[in-house]
Amino acid sequence: MGVSAVKLDIFDRYIVVIGKKFIYLNRPTRFMQRSSWIPALLFALALGGCTPQQQVTPSLPTHGVINHRSYLFQGNTVTEETTDPDTYAVFGAISDCHGEAARARWFAEELKRQGAEYILNAGDNALNERLRYGRADVNDDRKEIKDCLAAMASTGLPVFVIPGNHETQTTYQGALQDLAAQGIKNIIDMTIYQRFDGDDLDIVALPGYHTKSIPGRKFIPDDGYWAQPENIKAAGALAQDLDDAVVLLSHGAPKTGSYGPGTISNGQDVGDEVTRKVMIQYNISFAVVGHIHEAGGLAANLRGEKVAPETWASSFVVNAGALENWELLNGKQSKGMALLVTISDKQARYKVITSE
Ligand SMILES: [Zn+2]
Repeated sequence: MGVSAVKLDIFDRYIVVIGKKFIYLNRPTRFMQRSSWIPALLFALALGGCTPQQQVTPSLPTHGVINHRSYLFQGNTVTEETTDPDTYAVFGAISDCHGEAARARWFAEELKRQGAEYILNAGDNALNERLRYGRADVNDDRKEIKDCLAAMASTGLPVFVIPGNHETQTTYQGALQDLAAQGIKNIIDMTIYQRFDGDDLDIVALPGYHTKSIPGRKFIPDDGYWAQPENIKAAGALAQDLDDAVVLLSHGAPKTGSYGPGTISNGQDVGDEVTRKVMIQYNISFAVVGHIHEAGGLAANLRGEKVAPETWASSFVVNAGALENWELLNGKQSKGMALLVTISDKQARYKVITSE
């Protein structure tokens, strides 16, 4: 009986093929190193092997049409096959929905109305009260993720999504399976398709968050998405062959060394140094992030200079904020925000959208 394992994504998930049966494994590396995984698999198969999920076939090329444009899904890349003569792209960015699906719908529709051709979602679609407050969940996280993404997808635009630190692998993957089962085809899971080669805009994705915990505070659940230095370097390397302006879609900000997208309420920049180095190394000009709600709407470049909204710039990292109510660094109470970003050749500008 033939046994083989195919690595599925950067989180060490594998499809293992035994004869004609498939099994889907999370992080089996440890078992593989001990050479003890075959008995474990045979035992699992005895309990009943499964057929692969729809999302577990990333290496088979498929074509899809989203919003009248054709896309090729192959390997880790989605390529936009429909091209236009201009060098201009407009996208909306929404982050940290945290279960606020009605707001997600409002902002996604507003972004489309203002010309967005794509929606980028930087994660944290679930609230996950256990992670944030240490108490039981009021609303089911899988349903919160599903409802937030369905709201954005209702625009018909392609929605590029990564998990943040509030998703578990179970809730995130479960929500995407639920959406696929409902026939929703315009949500692109960037844990699988980590690279987008668009007509006038390219994206590389860094799923998860770079800090697992600090003393007294846990940022990532046990079954969550931890972006470790090797994951960050691999994400950056995906930008090598891309020809348009590249946007890094990440939940956490790179360190910018300024009062900007990674600044928390005590003034500290909690952005990531590895992500910063990787952006410089691979010439990634732009990043769209979330996570630090109070820094929503702030942007800076990697030289530590603030970048104002509605101003053309050759590089910036911008924080899309959150959809839940939050006090911003400037003392204003936010009732949700989103960004409209325009790329023109190698320059970009962003506009902050609020519901007021
Ligand atoms: Zn977060």
